[in-house]
Amino acid sequence: MDDEPQTTPAAALYPFRRPRLTLSSPLRLVLLGATGSIGRQTIDLVRRHPERLELAAVSCHGRVEELAAVLAELAAAQPWAPPPLVAICDENARERAARLPGWGPRLLAAGPAGLVEAVTEARAPSCVVNGLVGAAGLAPTLAAAELGLRIALANKEALVVGGQLVAAAVARGGAELLPVDSEHAAIAQCLSGRDPGEVARLVLTASGGPFRTTPAADLGRVTLEQVLAHPTWRMGPKITVDSATLMNKGLEVIEAHHLFGLPYERIDVVVHPGSIVHSLVEFVDGALLAQLGTPDMRVPLQYAIVGEIHWPLDGGRLDLLRAGPLVFEAPDIARFPCLHLARQAGQAGGTAPVVLNAANEVAVAALLAGRLRFADIPGVIADTLARLPRGPVPDLAAALDADARARTEAAVLVDARDAGGH
Ligand code: MG
Repeated sequence: MDDEPQTTPAAALYPFRRPRLTLSSPLRLVLLGATGSIGRQTIDLVRRHPERLELAAVSCHGRVEELAAVLAELAAAQPWAPPPLVAICDENARERAARLPGWGPRLLAAGPAGLVEAVTEARAPSCVVNGLVGAAGLAPTLAAAELGLRIALANKEALVVGGQLVAAAVARGGAELLPVDSEHAAIAQCLSGRDPGEVARLVLTASGGPFRTTPAADLGRVTLEQVLAHPTWRMGPKITVDSATLMNKGLEVIEAHHLFGLPYERIDVVVHPGSIVHSLVEFVDGALLAQLGTPDMRVPLQYAIVGEIHWPLDGGRLDLLRAGPLVFEAPDIARFPCLHLARQAGQAGGTAPVVLNAANEVAVAALLAGRLRFADIPGVIADTLARLPRGPVPDLAAALDADARARTEAAVLVDARDAGGH
């Protein structure tokens, strides 16, 4: 029919219309990034639902003492549950874990292989919670997708770096990829039960970060402490820096493109300083749906883990009478070029988003190490993109290769700015 709106996505990752799930009980979680912000909040949910959620496997980078304490506490609360498999990425930390008194869990391989093993070796997993930071989250996401598991994805970089690879793996394995990112979870709630053809555009909200009102001239002088003081959300350091540059929103535009299958020109960003409206969907008849709430990551996290069901959660409640006016502004691309760089890289496709992401990871790490100024982050990313030719990403190896090249290039650019003195 010619008058049908041409809005059906080519390949949406998000399962728009799927059968209501029956909950297996308990839900067995593979928790990747257990000591990070998402990991700690997932463990909080396990504590709140000890009969319904348990850990099948966990990973952490190096904070093994913290992880051991959490696992001991959960073992006492869930005496019936066998100890989860444990992947510890850092080799030295892995050795420390093996020497901890009373250490019980089986240790998986160190490094990136352990993250994949956590997915493939876990016994009867119901859901993989990917709370990893950066491109390291791609390989275990692909493994979980091939196995046909439910994936609660907080690791947006996996889709930025390997969106098409993940889409292919999800299709092959029959997996279910559900977003944990609050904006995408908001969109998922607005889309629940809808048909892709009903959707006109997505509107992602951005808090604007700590420098929303900072004049361009002053961005060159901001301190790391100011960068890390996010006005509304409490998160890990990497995503907090990304929120200050608006790169986080740029990565989220790419994430939304892959998840919901919409072209970039139908994914908008508005700055909404209150972080009350978590995102919106405009439908083809002009109806606009939004999801609102207090900024609490456990809401989208739990919603994804249990398969898009609103379970009870005794978190904060949004008081509409105290919420104040809802303010929306256009993002300022001149002061925050990362948003534009990300959109351009997403539209270019191929290795461009891989390079964008790798250069950003290097720049953020340099900023956190005190080796790069905040205002130099966009330049490092733009220059890395300009120096590396764009190519296809047919498989994981190609993605990892482009990622490694971009890291090398970005490190040189950081060194040049570092040596330049500031
Ligand atoms: Mg987000």
